[in-house]
Amino acid sequence: MADGPENTLDRSDPRGPDVDASTQLQEYPGFTERMDPRPDHGEGSYRGSGRLEGRRAFITGGDSGIGRATALAFAREGADVAIGYLPEEEEDGRSCCELIEAEGRKALAVPGDLREEAYSRAAVDRVVEGLGGLDILVNNAGFHIAQPGGIGDIDADQLRRTFETNVFGTIWLIQAALPHLSAGASIINTTSVQGYQPSTSLMDYAATKAALNNLTVSLAELLGERGIRVNAVAPGPIWTPLQPATTTSEKLESFGKDTPLGRMGQPAEVAGAFVFLASNDARYVSGEVLGVTGGKPLG
Ligand code: NAD
Ligand code: MG
Repeated sequence: MADGPENTLDRSDPRGPDVDASTQLQEYPGFTERMDPRPDHGEGSYRGSGRLEGRRAFITGGDSGIGRATALAFAREGADVAIGYLPEEEEDGRSCCELIEAEGRKALAVPGDLREEAYSRAAVDRVVEGLGGLDILVNNAGFHIAQPGGIGDIDADQLRRTFETNVFGTIWLIQAALPHLSAGASIINTTSVQGYQPSTSLMDYAATKAALNNLTVSLAELLGERGIRVNAVAPGPIWTPLQPATTTSEKLESFGKDTPLGRMGQPAEVAGAFVFLASNDARYVSGEVLGVTGGKPLG
């Protein structure tokens, strides 16, 4: 296995390095250790400065990819972190918890399937009990399967899975979390550039991300008077297990090449956006969708 591009993110030229991803397909849900090179979650580069000291965060889909990089960054900023993931992802879940604990922070694993409403309530209860409360909810779990043939190839199972994971799961978790959140708390949804510039191969997924962008705005309006901020991060093409597990090798070969910076991004390059939105630096920011897209415009 080749070394990941750890320690490279402090290079000033944002055009590189890129990843040769063409021969990487794996079965859903995809595993970190089977990726070559391994994604960069900021292990060698992210430096904390106490921006989330004493905060308690729950990150869904925190085992791998963008969620893992965010979990590590939050821990380095002083937060205790619970992560959700699918039960079959135990291998990635465990290694992310080890990363959090290595920072001297509390890690809590809450595996389960977000498509089941009861899981959301049980998961939030476990987090509140295990961490002593909840200050930051990151709705980051997401599902897509590319269908190069377009809308006619989206069958009922795929349609349900995509909407139930991305939209239903997010709403259920927010409903379960709200009674536990107080002024200063923050909700951050992971959406996508797809919510603005949808690909014909990801039409169902893109529609869910547009829905989440929209939900971010209405929730910010609703929860402002309680002192709870709601924002979203909209990544562009990022090197995570989701990609080799859900697309075609042709798509992977050109993944990110159409961005102004000409490459895909690493999870570590997205995590800082979540830290900013969760932190006091963003205390006057709500209802915002922050793009981390390699230069692709939102809108
Ligand atoms: P990832 O596969 O590492 O993370 C997604 C996680 O979602 C999985 O690890 C899994 O734990 C979780 N998940 C999926 N279905 C679930 C379910 N039913 N119940 C509970 N958990 C479930 O990939 P990632 O790219 O880091 O994805 C994180 C988020 O970023 C997703 O919402 C994705 O849509 C979004 N996103 C990714 C990209 C990209 O290019 N990688 C671009 C834009 C947005
Ligand atoms: Mg995973």
